[in-house]
Amino acid sequence: MSREFTFVDLTSLLGDTILCDLCNADYTDSDETGGMLFGSYGVCPKCMPTFMEGVNKYEEHHAIKSLCPPDMSHRDFIYAARRDEMFPPTAEQIEELKK
Ligand SMILES: [Zn+2]
Repeated sequence: MSREFTFVDLTSLLGDTILCDLCNADYTDSDETGGMLFGSYGVCPKCMPTFMEGVNKYEEHHAIKSLCPPDMSHRDFIYAARRDEMFPPTAEQIEELKK
């Protein structure tokens, strides 16, 4: 069996609890907007700026599967992702994120 490095944290994909896969902050009762889905990784609004520094450094923008719409809470955004409802970033949004 080959071992592959993966970002998937299945514990946060189960149930109704919304936990950031990086800092474990609980967004289940938060209306804060922002964040993204990087691969299978849910990145919360607070982690996003720091995380983006790495994404920009290694040019991994292709792995941004979904970007939280401005009018949606991070919680609803992650619920949508669990339903396979994605908001792929546009080229313009990616340019914005590179700043
Ligand atoms: Zn976080």
